[in-house]
Amino acid sequence: MTIKIDGKALADEIVQRVANDVSIFKQEHSIAPGLAVVLIGEDSASAVYVRNKVRRAEQAGLRSIEHYLSADATQQELEDLIDDLNKDHLVHGILVQLPLPAHLSENRVIEAISPVKDVDGFHPENVGRLVAGQAALTPCTPLGCMIMLKRLLPDLSGKHAVVLGRSNIVGKPMANLLLQANCTVTVVHSRTQNIESLCRTADILVAAVGQPLLVKESWVKPQAVVIDVGINSVLVEGKRKLVGDVDYNTVFSKVSAITPVPGGVGPMTIACLMQNTLKAAQFQLGMSLA
Ligand code: NDP
Repeated sequence: MTIKIDGKALADEIVQRVANDVSIFKQEHSIAPGLAVVLIGEDSASAVYVRNKVRRAEQAGLRSIEHYLSADATQQELEDLIDDLNKDHLVHGILVQLPLPAHLSENRVIEAISPVKDVDGFHPENVGRLVAGQAALTPCTPLGCMIMLKRLLPDLSGKHAVVLGRSNIVGKPMANLLLQANCTVTVVHSRTQNIESLCRTADILVAAVGQPLLVKESWVKPQAVVIDVGINSVLVEGKRKLVGDVDYNTVFSKVSAITPVPGGVGPMTIACLMQNTLKAAQFQLGMSLA
């Protein structure tokens, strides 16, 4: 029988565990781990993500601080704010909600964040540490995917994992985490030939392409585990609906386990942000990152 992986329930469990550890942290250090969230402009999807993150931070007992800059904020204004947050001892994690308005440089912003407060794990120092197999702040979405996978398959050794997508925030770190877990990893992208047959060889298929319902039943190996990272808003009979990159209904009965959209990877991403904020705070106050 196919397992529908309940990302919401697992995320609740993680946030509860973080909340317990946060209360110990508060007793030991007399402060709560602080997460600063920076939103630039008025993108409505980004505003929803920020609200969800702030709500979860409160549930985890973290102190969240929101900073809103107007859509025409300059690169210098944004970097000055990051500089202040880097120096603020009450702020342990900094998250700048992406994407940024087109006139701002994402790379410069990511590099401006102190690596020890980089709870998104996008800073080149954390990326390098991840690739080298060293303790690091790891990007939240792939981290959430790994937690779900390890729950299902405690030993991933020798599995063939195919990662669809090679973005810096999902595909590449996902491939590195799977490699570290001793999977044999294939990364496919828009220039790959024979995508469908490559995907069909996967014991573990992680789809992160942003193409609604791209992965069909014929793309998956029987009994594969499928993690659907995609979040795509589509019109169905005049109504907006969220769907993944995987055609869930046709794929479901062929695989051993699959994440739904919504309710799969999305809640895990936010839970891992809470976990990373606690980890960053613990590190800044003397504990190891491992
Ligand atoms: P990007 O657009 O940055 O990257 C998409 C990747 O998919 C690229 O590597 C691209 O290839 C590849 N790709 C696009 N179309 C195809 C295709 N037809 N066949 C094969 N490869 C293709 O997206 P992200 O990685 O940021 O996000 C991917 C999806 O995950 C989106 O739906 C996003 O909304 C969702 N997401 C969900 C999160 C969550 O918490 N659940 C968090 C982050 C993202 P190339 O490099 O060649 O262009």
